[in-house]
Amino acid sequence: MKTTSEKDTIKKIAILGSTGSIGTQALQVIKNNPDKYEAYVLTANNRVEELIEQARKFQPEVVVIANEDKYARLRDALADLPIKVYAGPRALCDVVAETPIDIVLTAMVGYAGLQPTMSAIRAGKTIALANKETLVVAGEIINDLAEHYHVPIIPVDSEHSAIFQCLTGEIGNDIEKLILTASGGPFRNYSPEQLATATKSQALKHPNWQMGAKITIDSASMMNKGFEVIEAKWLFGVRPEQIEVVVHPQSIIHSMVQFEDGAIKAQLGMPDMRLPIQYAFSYPDRIKTDFPRIDWAKCSQLTFEQPDTKRFRNLQLAYEALHQAGNMPCIVNAANEVVVAAFLKDTISFTGMSEVIEKVMNKMPYIHKPSYEDYVLTDQETRIVTQELISPYKF
Ligand code: NDP
Ligand code: MG
Repeated sequence: MKTTSEKDTIKKIAILGSTGSIGTQALQVIKNNPDKYEAYVLTANNRVEELIEQARKFQPEVVVIANEDKYARLRDALADLPIKVYAGPRALCDVVAETPIDIVLTAMVGYAGLQPTMSAIRAGKTIALANKETLVVAGEIINDLAEHYHVPIIPVDSEHSAIFQCLTGEIGNDIEKLILTASGGPFRNYSPEQLATATKSQALKHPNWQMGAKITIDSASMMNKGFEVIEAKWLFGVRPEQIEVVVHPQSIIHSMVQFEDGAIKAQLGMPDMRLPIQYAFSYPDRIKTDFPRIDWAKCSQLTFEQPDTKRFRNLQLAYEALHQAGNMPCIVNAANEVVVAAFLKDTISFTGMSEVIEKVMNKMPYIHKPSYEDYVLTDQETRIVTQELISPYKF
């Protein structure tokens, strides 16, 4: 039995997307540290049975299922427990504002993460940000909101967590360059011909990380790295030309910061997302873990190479979107979500994805200083335009 003062020091965490790869790993962190963290809100979209199991195990205060069709099943299955059960996207925005929550982990995938993140910031909650699409789509709005409400945004993405860790203790020291490492994904050595016929099952086999399907495809196409460049710009306030991508296939160095004096700091570790998730919860403290450590006898080589933006066109497209700014990153994000969903249904080829995204970028009206409503409309319209352009690129 916990005493009142012990309970007061336990951070209450809302996990948006608790049934996903990041969400389930966050629950492992919470399970390992019952004296420090409590799962207060758990949410999912479709996987209702997994959510029920998590709710019975972690006994959160609230659960939300975004897909309203699954509400009755969730409510009935938890009827014997004092857990509040809600459904729908609006409920996600409402529950993150609940008073006792300390940290909101945004582990939903895609554009759907934007609104609840904004709602959590308005409610003054610390954001542990995994959902990079939020910053890709509307980085400026998110930063302005976070500044207005004095809300810290702590990165969970391994590269950005690495940079964040390198920057700790460096207040006042200017960054010369951020060096984002990329594994290169499963197709690093594929020829253009092999890429053109690459299949879903090949793309889903990431060499170093176990992740949700969408980000795994983004990693194979290097759109993930392009998004991370945009994410880095908003998180760390640097110019696009200060962000360099280096392919590092071993995924041991998670990213680096080069300072004005030429010194470079790096953060290293095994590829294990539980570490950056836990650090986002515990910052500025570190908590002892038994996660696997690097075995230097087995890690004889750390190698680096330049990314090939001709074969991996998406990385270049993301840089272009970042340079154009305005609603262009939102356009790229929406187009990418549609083509990745199509690729996962075998209705577009791997290289067709980049071709369609580029066409959409040329077709959609550009807005220099978009409002939130502009982003909503841009997202909706881009999805329609992208869908129309997909058919000629059938696999
Ligand atoms: P998953 O696909 O594994 O999980 C996504 C989660 O979001 C699931 O719980 C899913 O619910 C829920 N979800 C999906 N769509 C919606 C929606 N429309 N409304 C509400 N909930 C929704 O993704 P990941 O965990 O891999 O990734 C989550 C985010 O973290 C992404 O933005 C990704 O880019 C980022 N990230 C992930 C990393 C990783 O290692 N996985 C690393 C760095 C960043 P359900 O399953 O029930 O449908
Ligand atoms: Mg990453």
